[in-house]
Amino acid sequence: DTRWIDGKAFAARMRAEIAAEAADLRARHGLEPGLAVVLVGDDPASRIYVRNKVQQTTEAGMRSLEHRLPAETTEAELVALVEALNRDRAVHGILVQLPLPRHIDSARILATIAPEKDVDGFHVVNAGRLAVGLDGLVPCTPLGCLLLLKAFAPPLAGARAVVVGRSNIVGKPMAQLLLRESCTVTIAHSRTRDLPEECRRADILVAAVGQPELVRGDWLKPGAIVIDVGINRVTDAEGKARIVGDVAFKEALGVAGAITPVPGGVGPMTIACLLRNTLTAARRQAGIAG
Ligand code: NAD
Repeated sequence: DTRWIDGKAFAARMRAEIAAEAADLRARHGLEPGLAVVLVGDDPASRIYVRNKVQQTTEAGMRSLEHRLPAETTEAELVALVEALNRDRAVHGILVQLPLPRHIDSARILATIAPEKDVDGFHVVNAGRLAVGLDGLVPCTPLGCLLLLKAFAPPLAGARAVVVGRSNIVGKPMAQLLLRESCTVTIAHSRTRDLPEECRRADILVAAVGQPELVRGDWLKPGAIVIDVGINRVTDAEGKARIVGDVAFKEALGVAGAITPVPGGVGPMTIACLLRNTLTAARRQAGIAG
């Protein structure tokens, strides 16, 4: 029987732990972790993400500072805001919601964020620190996947892990994290020659592709632990909109040892890890061990 990995419940427990730690930081050190969230323009999906991030930050007892800028904001103006947030001692984490309007160079903006405040973990310094095994800030979605694997998978050391997808925000950092846990890691992508065969070797399969139900049930090794990062909007036979993952969930049931559902698996872990990173960043900036 396939176990469902309940990311929603796991993330709720994590948020409660984080709230307790934030209360303790305030009581014992007078420190209130602050997360600045910057949203440029009015992309509807981004607005929902930002609203959820702001709400959960506040619920965890941390300070949320929201900056909403019009779509016409220039790159220079955005750089100036990020630099001001870098200097602001009440701000421990800075998150610039992507995607940015096309006239703004996202790479330049991400490079402007002070690495110690880069709670998304996208700065090249943090990517580099992860790659060479130093403490830094790790991208939230792959960090959430790792926490689920540590809780639900058998010991990771020596396991064969296959990550499908090589993006800088999910696939590559996921592979680095699994390597750090001593998995034998394969990264598959759109140019991989025989994707089903690569997947069949996986004790741990992480799908971060963005293709609805690409991974079929017969691509899975019996007993494999499957982490489905995909969030794909599709219209079903009755014309109703739904969200599906990158894995054909029903086919995986009965084959996989455990699997994250979509929604309710990886998704809720991402914001919980953002809060975790904000707390970590605040502690480090204040020189408090934890
Ligand atoms: P991306 O488009 O940047 O990268 C997709 C990767 O998949 C690429 O590396 C590409 O090589 C690979 N790929 C594309 N088609 C493929 C195919 N047919 N076979 C094999 N590999 C293929 O996407 P991303 O930002 O990494 O996101 C991936 C998915 O995860 C999306 O559905 C996204 O919505 C979702 N996502 C979820 C969360 C979350 O919080 N749960 C966070 C980030 C992304």
